[in-house]
Amino acid sequence: TPRKDNPLYALLEQAAAYYRQQLRQHPQRQRAVGYLKGRGLSGQIAKLYDLGLAPPGWNNLMSHLARDTSEEKALVEAGLVVENADSGGRYDRFRDRIMFPIRDSRGRVIGFGGRVLGDEKPKYLNSPETTVFHKGQELYGLFEAKQQNRQLEDILVVEGYMDVIALAQHGVTNAVATLGTATSEDHLKRLFRLVHSVVFCFDGDRAGRQAAWRALNAALPILEDGRHVRFLFLPDGQDPDSMIREEGTDAFRRRMSRDAQPLTDYLFRHLAEEAGADSLEGKAHMAALALPLIEQVPGSLLRRLLRQSLQQQTGVDLDEVVPASLPEQPPS
Ligand code: ATP
Ligand code: MN
Ligand code: MN
Ligand code: MN
Repeated sequence: TPRKDNPLYALLEQAAAYYRQQLRQHPQRQRAVGYLKGRGLSGQIAKLYDLGLAPPGWNNLMSHLARDTSEEKALVEAGLVVENADSGGRYDRFRDRIMFPIRDSRGRVIGFGGRVLGDEKPKYLNSPETTVFHKGQELYGLFEAKQQNRQLEDILVVEGYMDVIALAQHGVTNAVATLGTATSEDHLKRLFRLVHSVVFCFDGDRAGRQAAWRALNAALPILEDGRHVRFLFLPDGQDPDSMIREEGTDAFRRRMSRDAQPLTDYLFRHLAEEAGADSLEGKAHMAALALPLIEQVPGSLLRRLLRQSLQQQTGVDLDEVVPASLPEQPPS
């Protein structure tokens, strides 16, 4: 189906309108409103991100939007209704959750995230991949960031919906989130069409640090000269939401300008640590790990600088090294 004709767009928009209305009208909306207020969010920011409420119950959305079986099946295609493979029974995917509409960069609703109001599991539920929703390409909050900034200077990539929204609540309106997936090359290509500087700020936990290294690997093949990627590591246990709420906007901005490290610093620091670069063996190991990464960088000036820097750090004369000839380290 050609994208602009896909009927799922209209259906998803209707679903967003329904969830939005439920947050304002449902008899139990106070619990949801209280939850959002408790997380420091204003009505204005809830409106800007078009937050909604999926009420408790198995077929609220379905009975509101579908009059017959074929319309129910369309809701299944849209990822809003789940069809049981065995019984064929259909029910609302999102129940008793705060709803975050996910828009493409043109503003069309393409999917949803939903968060429980308490500690139930799973904490977040996302729309499945559909003909209009491709998690590996889309970034939550990009449309809203463009709405709030006439000219985006740089973009902050965070992990979660609430990080994006809490940052916006504090005036940091240039944050986007990947949708529960790793940062992809496609994500980064999309961002670098808009800005020349991207800052990753993931959670200060193991998952966040792993996500950062994966993001570095996704970024290497698109590092043209003139593109900047930086990493801001938060203290243990913090995420951008908790951090900016704790320290406020000014301190958070200072942290960004003071602590965000260029991708290249992070790369060398990480590899030096991994290889133990305080011995000759470690230096050789570091060079062996770094070279195949450096070779992926398309920016020829940056690539040369990286090789020079590696040479200075390890003492290896890289002009004499053919990267492909580096032997794999056998397991010890
Ligand atoms: P909160 O502050 O509301 O507890 P968070 O954004 O800090 O949420 P994390 O656990 O750090 O939550 O997860 C980051 C992001 O990863 C979420 O925003 C969501 O997009 C995704 N995510 C987390 N848990 C799940 C899950 N169970 N299923 C799918 N995606 C999830
Ligand atoms: Mn986390
Ligand atoms: Mn959080
Ligand atoms: Mn988090």
